Amino acid sequence: MSVHAYIGLGSNLGNPIQQVGDALIELNQIPLTRLLQQSQLYRSDPVGPPGQPDYVNAVALLETALEALELLDALQQIENAHQRRRIQHWGPRTLDLDLLLYADQQIDHERLQVPHPHMSEREFVLYPLAEITPEIKLPDGTALQQLLTKCPLGTLAPVAL
Ligand code: ATP
Ligand code: MG
Ligand code: MG
Repeated sequence: MSVHAYIGLGSNLGNPIQQVGDALIELNQIPLTRLLQQSQLYRSDPVGPPGQPDYVNAVALLETALEALELLDALQQIENAHQRRRIQHWGPRTLDLDLLLYADQQIDHERLQVPHPHMSEREFVLYPLAEITPEIKLPDGTALQQLLTKCPLGTLAPVAL
């Protein structure tokens, strides 16, 4: 059985626009999975240690027959193929692929929390997600539109391509 899964993409090293663009193609190549929709690319201020370059972010909607942990494995393989190095928590990275939502499941596993624990307060997740599925609700019933009213757009802006 296939389910819908939403992925948050982010990059702030090594040509971020290309990293995110390539990652969208690679998401569509995951076994038993296809890319249904993608948001625009957005530019956002870095989270975490100061002095990092800006981020490029996007959200993708996948249809997948993989289990959630299998999908996480596939996302981490793609991150690794982009030479992601885990040097510093929330430090700069070539590619970050976070599993935001998986069907309407709530998952609390040592390797995987779904919904993604920080998604509700991140403008660079909520606004691209709203582009794809404005009427979506989180598994606890909270409407995305409700979260958006509490999350200012700030400096988030579509990337001028
Ligand atoms: P944040 O999670 O705040 O966005 P991050 O994306 O920089 O931070 P990572 O270094 O990419 O964090 O991931 C750290 C660990 O988080 C991973 O090893 C993974 O097992 C775990 N993890 C837990 N829940 C998720 C999820 N929903 N999506 C991706 N990774 C997750
Ligand atoms: Mg992340
Ligand atoms: Mg991550």
